[in-house]
Amino acid sequence: MKAYQFPEYDTPVKVGKKVAIIGGGNTAMDSARCVLRLGAGEVYIVYRRSEAEIPARREEVENAMEEGIQFKFLTNPKRFLGDEKNWVVSMECYQMELGEPDESGRRRPIAKEGSEFIIDIDVGIIALGTTPNPLIAQTTEGLKTSKWGTVIADEETGRTVKPGVWAGGDVVTGAATVISAMGAGQLAAIDIDKYLRGE
Ligand SMILES: Cc1cc2nc3c(=O)[nH]c(=O)nc-3n(C[C@H](O)[C@H](O)[C@H](O)COP(=O)(O)OP(=O)(O)OC[C@H]3O[C@@H](n4cnc5c(N)ncnc54)[C@H](O)[C@@H]3O)c2cc1C
Repeated sequence: MKAYQFPEYDTPVKVGKKVAIIGGGNTAMDSARCVLRLGAGEVYIVYRRSEAEIPARREEVENAMEEGIQFKFLTNPKRFLGDEKNWVVSMECYQMELGEPDESGRRRPIAKEGSEFIIDIDVGIIALGTTPNPLIAQTTEGLKTSKWGTVIADEETGRTVKPGVWAGGDVVTGAATVISAMGAGQLAAIDIDKYLRGE
């Protein structure tokens, strides 16, 4: 929405002074470093396990640390707190400890009882997981989706079960990569061309 051209466009990105990014994946690292470069004063990564379990690539974590991102490990948000106008002013967090490994093989994070503490922030960014926007599936009759909300489409052609509708990329596979989305687009384009030629 051309937020980068503000004030020419009226969609500014709100850059906080103290920003918490919740999550420990590559997306969290990207978000933290972008926020810092946009001018935030202090940026925290809030992650519920320890540094040893963080899912982001090691290189991304090191680069974020070098750039000045502050890591709050073994910390999990409980709630955001707002002022009288409902602007976020802080986040209440639990101190966590690690228990036995769970089904993912990683040690389960457990909140320490009575460990709540406050971090002052004015922006919180949730960088946890991805699911497709449900609007298209909800408003397009005849489209089939999986239990994860992804659109069901043929792997070779991108055809959905609705005639004349193709899908590809993250909305079909779930969170993946640019190159796989481009590949799906290419396969769909070839098939759309055939369809339009009546082949
Ligand atoms: C922070 C972050 C970092 C990433 N880093 C990497 C990386 O380094 N390398 C890599 O390969 N991948 C990376 N990814 C993943 C990559 O961005 C995605 O896999 C890729 O963008 C998927 O492409 P897509 O075209 O399927 O979906 P998208 O890029 O999400 O495009 C979907 C588009 O559809 C639009 N849209 C949604 N609903 C509607 C509607 N109803 N009508 C019209 N338009 C609509 C959306 O606005 C959006 O522009 C990253 C993702 C994130 C979030």
